[in-house]
Amino acid sequence: MIEPLAETPELVQIRDAVRAVCDNFDDAYWSEKDRTASFPHEFARAIAEGGWLGIAMPAEYGGAGLGITEAAVMMQVIGSSAGTFAACSTVHINIFGPHPIVVHGSAAQRQRMLPPLIGGTERACFGVTEPDAGLDTTKLKTSAVRDGDRYRVNGRKIWTSTAQQADKIMLLVRTTPVEQCKRPTDGLSLFYTDLDRRYVEVREIHKMGRAAVDSNALFIDDLPVPVEDRIGEEGMGFRYILDSLNPERILNAAEAIGIGRRALGKAAAYANERIVFDRPIGKNQAIQHPLAESWAELYAAELMTLRAARLYDAGQPCGLEANAAKYLAGDAAFNACDRAVRTHGGMGYAAEYHVERYFREAVVTRLAPVSRELILCYLAERALGLPKSY
Ligand SMILES: Cc1cc2nc3c(=O)[nH]c(=O)nc-3n(C[C@H](O)[C@H](O)[C@H](O)COP(=O)(O)OP(=O)(O)OC[C@H]3O[C@@H](n4cnc5c(N)ncnc54)[C@H](O)[C@@H]3O)c2cc1C
Repeated sequence: MIEPLAETPELVQIRDAVRAVCDNFDDAYWSEKDRTASFPHEFARAIAEGGWLGIAMPAEYGGAGLGITEAAVMMQVIGSSAGTFAACSTVHINIFGPHPIVVHGSAAQRQRMLPPLIGGTERACFGVTEPDAGLDTTKLKTSAVRDGDRYRVNGRKIWTSTAQQADKIMLLVRTTPVEQCKRPTDGLSLFYTDLDRRYVEVREIHKMGRAAVDSNALFIDDLPVPVEDRIGEEGMGFRYILDSLNPERILNAAEAIGIGRRALGKAAAYANERIVFDRPIGKNQAIQHPLAESWAELYAAELMTLRAARLYDAGQPCGLEANAAKYLAGDAAFNACDRAVRTHGGMGYAAEYHVERYFREAVVTRLAPVSRELILCYLAERALGLPKSY
């Protein structure tokens, strides 16, 4: 019940091989990481050693040269493992983060930046969100001023995940003040550079779930960035980020489906074994129906995710499908985890049964990296021709 659809022998192979790695890290392992808020280095190493970080990276730099469909199957398996979202976030950035370097970086940059990410010897974080800009990315205020052969960066980022561990940061900054730009989307630039702690203070945010993987507020004070660390042209950063949004949505959707499936599996098992009023609680339709509904919701979200991934890999437009997949999967995961907690009754609230951890992890699938409201705004505009509302 937990496994993702795999339509080809190659996908089945990926699914089984990733499952074999994940199975070495059980609920007890992830529960401890969550309780002590400690980074799952052992899991990260196992995934890197299996060569999985390069699944969708070009073969010439050490990757497997496969598509987003294969990466989505892999992330769904990781999402459905005991680590759920924490496990996904441990590796997510290395899978999806380098996309702008692959597409817009120079040959020299690809050669320098990709192999360490693929090999897992370097960890990157992703600095886009800012405290005063929120989802309105064009309002970001972190600025980079050119100073000879380098830029000087000043500003603040928030929610930057894995920055406690990261050697590198993918940073979106403003290089031309918005007042001097034709459009607010102009004048932003993308850097991939050292996260040099002499110039960047990294302060952890205490949060509801996913404690094993840190998220942080960053205070950037005169960080020098060599010009060679700018990806593509100056002022084009927003467009480069947009290019990577669809694959990111697809992977997020796959991860969410994995989390939902794991919770649902636990709920069904408990419903079969827990006896109240002299019969298994799963004999009651009030228990059965919500779980059956979740099964259908997760399956539907999975089909939309696969459709989006296939379109992306075929070079076709997939913005509607990728966003719809992210929306459906986030809601389906949240519902499944909520229902799993309720199926367990009081024990759903006990750490021992793990569904409360899955629930806390699933909450974020509807908030980040884009909220369900903003997805609906996008679908209303692009699919239905309604006026842009944001
Ligand atoms: C665990 C976690 C990890 C994260 N990791 C990273 C990371 O690694 N790197 C990074 O850059 N960011 C990261 N983020 C940030 C995340 O992408 C943002 O939280 C998300 O984009 C939402 O932005 P915001 O929090 O500023 O919400 P806001 O923009 O303040 O929005 C608040 C609410 O208002 C709603 N809203 C706003 N405008 C509209 C509108 N016009 N119409 C309808 N509703 C609207 C939103 O949907 C939302 O519900 C992470 C966040 C979390 C929680």
